[in-house]
Amino acid sequence: MNPSRRVFLQRLWQVIVAAGASSFFSFEELLAAPIATNRPKVLWLHGTSCSGCSTSFLDIEQVSVVEILTQIVDLVFHPDVSLATGEQAAQILDHMATEEDGFILVLEGGIPVGMPHACMMAECPMTDWVERLARRAGVLVAAGTCAALGGIPRMNGTLTGSMTLLEFIHHKGIAKPLVALPNCPMKPEHLVYTLLHQIKLGRPPELDALGRPVRFFGHTIHERCIYYADFQERRYAERIGDEGCLLKLGCQGPVTRNDCMRFGHNNNTNTCIRAGHPCVGCAGERFPRQIMLHSYGDRRSIMREFES
Ligand code: SF4
Ligand code: SF4
Repeated sequence: MNPSRRVFLQRLWQVIVAAGASSFFSFEELLAAPIATNRPKVLWLHGTSCSGCSTSFLDIEQVSVVEILTQIVDLVFHPDVSLATGEQAAQILDHMATEEDGFILVLEGGIPVGMPHACMMAECPMTDWVERLARRAGVLVAAGTCAALGGIPRMNGTLTGSMTLLEFIHHKGIAKPLVALPNCPMKPEHLVYTLLHQIKLGRPPELDALGRPVRFFGHTIHERCIYYADFQERRYAERIGDEGCLLKLGCQGPVTRNDCMRFGHNNNTNTCIRAGHPCVGCAGERFPRQIMLHSYGDRRSIMREFES
């Protein structure tokens, strides 16, 4: 075997294990897989976003993102990494929206339905591009909290009328399988797992009612928290840096579904609670709360819920 392919596959295997995909994808199968052929086309777009999910994906540590994008999938366009700009980019999108079928459409960011000119690409509102492309795509991926659950673009008081990708396709009468990967920013392992599942089994992983993979979002942070025993014994931290459950500091772990206590950010270097900070619920439907932390009223209502 070509040494560079061997190194690539060994590193890719680390991602598969980290993402929990080893249950359906053995290392032997990976070795035998003709990865360079029949790669699914992937088109990645930004709605109203900060590009944090792209940055998170491009920073994946275990394996070169270039190898993922050139050996597992065929990346047709990405606003941050593609060389195509302007007219050339518009031609690629137009080609995909008229000539291609069955590709994977990844959307990062919200869709500003109430203010379409807030997000334009090649002089067309992103709302038009997303609608045209979603109709041709085989699978849709809402990458990150803004695309998956609303996030910052849909905070109270914003004027853009931002929709999630799921809301948008329902609004347009488009019926397509959709995988929602909330997290601010998205965890790259979640996307790699989703892509591998689609490539290997021809369908998305098992999803909950909001389109989230059950494997990652089946449990709350609270259920697996390192401070769960402290919570049960009512040993609460009074300020950042104290030992104990962070509920009194506004922890959103009890109402946030994510796998952070199993696998954290940056190749599991750390995660919020392990670092001593309350979960702010970045992967939840209520993120960002209008008053995030340090709201006395908010804390009291949380405490009432759990003291009763
Ligand atoms: S409230 Fe937060 S810190 Fe406390 S046990 Fe639950 S998730 Fe952990
Ligand atoms: S612990 Fe909470 S705030 Fe931190 S990454 Fe996980 S879901 Fe987001």
